[in-house]
Amino acid sequence: MTEQIDWPALRAAARAAMGRAYAPYSGFPVGAAALVDDGRTITGCNVENASYGVGLCAECSLVSALHGEGKATAAPQLVAVAVVDRNGDPLMPCGRCRQLLWEQGGAALLLETVRGVLPMTEVLPDAFGPDDLLRR
Ligand code: ZN
Repeated sequence: MTEQIDWPALRAAARAAMGRAYAPYSGFPVGAAALVDDGRTITGCNVENASYGVGLCAECSLVSALHGEGKATAAPQLVAVAVVDRNGDPLMPCGRCRQLLWEQGGAALLLETVRGVLPMTEVLPDAFGPDDLLRR
C-alpha cells in the first residue's frame, strides 16, 4: 500500500485544511490529512479557543473525522498522514497527537515528517498502546 500513497495529493489536502484552521490566538494554522484503509481521504485543522488550554490540534479533528464520518460498524485505520504548517511544509505532531495517531493507525501507519516518510515506530518509539492493556 505504501507505493500507492499519493503523498503530494495528501499534502495538498492538508494544506487546504490548514486554510480552514481557526487559530485567531496563536496565528499558527495547522492542517492534517490522512488516507484511511477504507479508501477515504479525511482532513482536520486546529481549532483554538479563548480558553487556550482547550484548543484542539489538527490531528484531533482528523481522528474525529475518522470515526465521525465513517461507517458506523467499521473500525477504520489510518494508513498515511500528512501534517502541514502555515507554509504548507511538513510539521511534526505534538506528543499527545503522536499517541492519538498510534491508537488509530498503529505501528504500520506512515507519517510524512521533517525527515521524510517514517513509520510510527520511529515517530513514537516503544509506544504505549491498546496491546499493553491486554498484556499487563
Ligand atoms: Zn497535537
